[in-house]
Parts: sequence; structure tokens; C-alpha cells
Amino acid sequence: MKRILVTGGSGFIGSHLCERLLNEGNEVICVDNFFSGSKQNVIHLLDNKNFELIRHDITMPFFAEVDEIYNLACPASPIHYQHNAIKTVKTSVMGSINMLGLAKRVGAKILQASTSEVYGDPLVHPQPESYRGNVNPIGPRSCYDEGKRCAETLFTSYREQHNLKIKIARIFNTYGPRMSVNDGRVVSNFAVQAIQNKDITICGDGKQTRSFMYIDDLVEGLVRMMNTPDSVTGPINIGNPNEFSILELAYRIIALTNSKSKLIFKALPQDDPAQRKPDISLALNTLNGWKPRVELEAGLKPTIDYFSKILNS
Ligand code: NAD
Ligand code: UDP
Repeated sequence: MKRILVTGGSGFIGSHLCERLLNEGNEVICVDNFFSGSKQNVIHLLDNKNFELIRHDITMPFFAEVDEIYNLACPASPIHYQHNAIKTVKTSVMGSINMLGLAKRVGAKILQASTSEVYGDPLVHPQPESYRGNVNPIGPRSCYDEGKRCAETLFTSYREQHNLKIKIARIFNTYGPRMSVNDGRVVSNFAVQAIQNKDITICGDGKQTRSFMYIDDLVEGLVRMMNTPDSVTGPINIGNPNEFSILELAYRIIALTNSKSKLIFKALPQDDPAQRKPDISLALNTLNGWKPRVELEAGLKPTIDYFSKILNS
């Protein structure tokens, strides 16, 4: 049995990860400030004697004897991370310093939830880990993108200077149950709009692309990455390379919900990436047989069921 700290553990991804780690027989400490996550996401875990939920902001130091740390704390949806840009940078930078300091003190392995946003609006397609990206350092997405890029720098520096056991996972767009209903990301927005027969809000002409990974595939990838030998540090892209335009996504969700929703077109936000698709060759070769298994429709069904239940209750 390991004792594992998950920061951001009551968020969308964190709650699934806590559940998985508990099911494997580990002790899990979930730390969250509930900025974009909610207690509701982990309420079913509270009776588990191996689970501890702590309200804490990782921009402040935190001490606990742990074997592993998954550093997931950071708002991920543009609406949330732009709400307080300075706080978003602090969470990625000061939060990483605090968690790396903890890992150093207790000798824990530490995994950083990095992001495909480190590639910005990519000029290379699909994106391999060697691509250095096209990021606007002063745009509306920069608090998130540059914060995450700096976190990668910190992780790498702690490895070089203090020989820490680090892992950097570059996560591509992930969806599934427990995304927040109003977090503004495209899958949750379209599903909620379609279920309620409201207009589907397409940003720009909807020809921009994303590659969507179901939550179970991501959790599997993160756990396998944590369990790789110490020589494997990443960055490693974890995503599903099946690429869809935003319009295609809207049509699929409308079909799956038998919705009467119509499409409406809104302005494309500044610096919205035109295309995104991971090159996952490195993950396929390194993560002990991992590959994305859940196709878009198979993943959208439980996601839509989840939102239907929430909206009906
Ligand atoms: P989320 O917003 O649901 O979860 C983030 C969690 O972190 C929330 O519970 C939030 O309350 C918590 N948090 C935020 N700031 C904090 C702070 N200062 N101290 C403590 N807790 C804090 O988002 P998510 O989709 O679950 O994303 C989890 C992680 O994965 C994030 O680091 C995100 O950048 C990364 N990621 C997600 C995706 C995706 O598609 N979902 C893609 C790339 C990277
Ligand atoms: N998007 C959209 N309508 C929405 C929400 C998002 O068309 O209601 C678009 C958004 O402009 C972007 C894509 O969907 O091009 C993915 O947006 P999301 O915020 O989910 O993720 P990210 O842009 O961070 O990949």
C-alpha cells in the first residue's frame, strides 16, 4: 500500500484518479481548494477509511508523509483559469514549487499534469513532444499556458539539481462524467445545451479541431506513467489522436441526445488554437502497453447520461 497525494483531487480528473488509486488499495490524500472542483465529486469516497479530503490551497506549503504526488491542482477550463489570471499563474508556479519541495523532503515521486496548451496554437501538426510550441506570452490564455510551461521548467530543474523522481504528462482534451456543468468547456457546454434543446454555441466557424480522450484512458495513462522506471521523466503526450472539428462534435452530440438544438455562431476567442492532435508514439512505446481505447461515441454516451442526471435532479 502506498500513500498518495492528489492535488486538485476533487476536480473532474482528480476525482476519477482518487477513485482508481483507492480501488488499487492505496491510501489517498486529496487536497483541493474547491475553486473549480467540488466535494460532490468525491462524496462517495468519504466513507473509505483510506481516503482523506483536505481543504487546502497549494500556493501555500503543505506537509504530509507520502510516497507519490499527482499534481493536478489548477483550473483547466478557459473561463475558470481566466477568472483570476494571477492566481492561475501562482497555482502553477508557487503550487509546483510547494509540491516539489514536499517531494524533495519526503523522497516522493511526483507527476505534473501538464497540458497540450504548452504547444499554444501549434504550427506543427500533429504535435510531438519535441515541438516547442507557439504560445502568446501576453494573451488571454497565457496565464494557463505559461504557468504550465514554467511548471515543466521547475520540475526539470528539481530533477537536475536535486535528483527528484519526476514525471511530466502533457494531457490533451479530456472529457467524461464529473466535468462541471458550467465550466464552459466544449463537451460539457454542447452536452448540456443539447439535452436542454438550447442553442449550441459554436465559436468561430467550428472548423477548428480538437482530439478528445475519455477520462478512463487518461487515468490509465497517468497511473502507468507514475509506475514507469525513474529514468522515464517525460514530457509524454497522453491523448487520443482521433481528431474532430468542433462542428462534427456538435452534430454527434445532437444525434446522441435526439436534440432539437440549433447551431449558433459566436466570435472565436483570441488565440484559440486552430488545430490540436497529439503524436502519441512516445506514450505507446513507454507506458507499458497503454493506448487510448474509448472512441468518441462510446465516451460521449456515459458523459451525456451524467449530465442528464445532474440536470434532472
Ligand atoms: P478541474 O478544474 O475540474 O480540476 C482542477 C482542480 O484543482 C479543482 O478541483 C480545483 O478546485 C483545484 N484547484 C485549483 N487551484 C487550486 C489551488 N490553488 N489549490 C488547490 N486546489 C486547486 O480541471 P480538470 O480537467 O480536472 O484538470 C485537472 C488537471 O489536469 C489540471 O492541472 C489541468 O491543467 C490538467 N489538464 C486537464 C485537461 C482536460 O482536458 N481536462 C487537459 C490538459 C491538462
Ligand atoms: N468551443 C465552442 N463552443 C463552446 C465552448 C468551446 O465552440 O461553447 C470551442 C472553443 O472555442 C475551442 C474548442 O471548442 O475551439 C475547445 O474548447 P475548450 O474550452 O473545451 O478547450 P481548449 O480550447 O482549451 O482546448
